[in-house]
Amino acid sequence: MKKGEFTFTMIKPKAVELGNLIPILYDISQAGFKVVAMKMTRLSLVQAKKFYAIHKERPFFKDLVEFMSSGPVVAAVLQKDNAVEEYRKLIGTTNPAEAEDGTIRKKYALSVQANAVHGSDSDENALIESNFFFSQFEIFA
Ligand code: GDP
Repeated sequence: MKKGEFTFTMIKPKAVELGNLIPILYDISQAGFKVVAMKMTRLSLVQAKKFYAIHKERPFFKDLVEFMSSGPVVAAVLQKDNAVEEYRKLIGTTNPAEAEDGTIRKKYALSVQANAVHGSDSDENALIESNFFFSQFEIFA
């Protein structure tokens, strides 16, 4: 994976439960991202705590990890020039109430916690998060 060209995303449990997986993937495709890895899986509580370890001192950590392990998610690695920044623009702000019209979180998120999707915040984290979910043989880049 060439730095700068990739980001990692997860479609969160509530969005999958509500049937918004395909509409969200369509928006991602329309925005010019290519899917180079994808799987549906369910995080255990231990896995969710590890994925979000950076937030472990935050007051919402327990709610976040319980929510993220409450049902299946879809994880994917996406390819596009300047992928991390472009994807953060496509998904919108963490709080969907503040997200711009047309963004994925504006369209599909219910709350700050159930905000439809995760998107990496740096190239370094895109690599760490991709490797958390996928082996080298599962990323077709
Ligand atoms: P992101 O990079 O936009 O996803 O935002 P952060 O890295 O700051 O937070 C990670 C995730 O934690 C967010 O996507 C939310 O699902 C959740 N989160 C952030 N802030 C809050 C909060 O104040 N309350 C709750 N319940 N969840 C939050």
